[in-house]
Amino acid sequence: MKSEPTRREFLNATARGAGLVALGSTAAYLVIKAGPDGYWQVDPRKCINIRLGAVNVEVCDKCATTCVLPLSAVRAVNEYAKCGRCCICPSYFDVTSEIGRDGLPTRKLCPRDAITREAIGDVDPDDPLNNFYDYHIDEDKCDGCGKCVMACKEPAGLGSLRLEVRHSLCVDCNRCTIATACPDDALVRNTNDLSKMDPHPEEETA
Ligand code: SF4
Ligand code: SF4
Ligand code: SF4
Repeated sequence: MKSEPTRREFLNATARGAGLVALGSTAAYLVIKAGPDGYWQVDPRKCINIRLGAVNVEVCDKCATTCVLPLSAVRAVNEYAKCGRCCICPSYFDVTSEIGRDGLPTRKLCPRDAITREAIGDVDPDDPLNNFYDYHIDEDKCDGCGKCVMACKEPAGLGSLRLEVRHSLCVDCNRCTIATACPDDALVRNTNDLSKMDPHPEEETA
């Protein structure tokens, strides 16, 4: 006897249906559902925005601009275990902007205002650099443009931000259009959890 779908399965099916309806007919052939062999994911060892060591290079925006969905299925994710909770986070602030009276940059980096922060403990106004924050991504706003991910690298960042295909949003195209556009071959079809992979594996073995 066929069992009732779980709430999660129901929501996933609804999200996929909504995504398909939103697609134009020209893109429809791409979203013939791929086989049950895995799922599309960003390989953090290849993506130029994620991999450590790739600094002073242009941000790649293809995850945001080439997905078949109106708002890409790719999102920035903060791995809290790695995050330094810095007061002047280079992914939260545009560190090239003018410094205000409070000693902090006056502009934010995210073009969609998708990053918020929450102070940890009491804030000392006389010593702003000694305050620490939790940084959160609003996934309803983020489009995976990668700017914050690129900024969270050495020497200022710790590489805690990365990009991920959100499987609750992805319609699992037979041929992912981001994979076709990706200059690093970093959008791959995989059965493993790539989010657990270190973007700089050479460091581990050194
Ligand atoms: S990936 Fe782009 S849109 Fe998303 S939080 Fe980072 S800067 Fe903002
Ligand atoms: S398979 Fe690729 S292009 Fe299709 S919805 Fe998923 S991330 Fe977007
Ligand atoms: S298209 Fe490729 S290189 Fe560009 S952000 Fe996406 S995964 Fe990274």
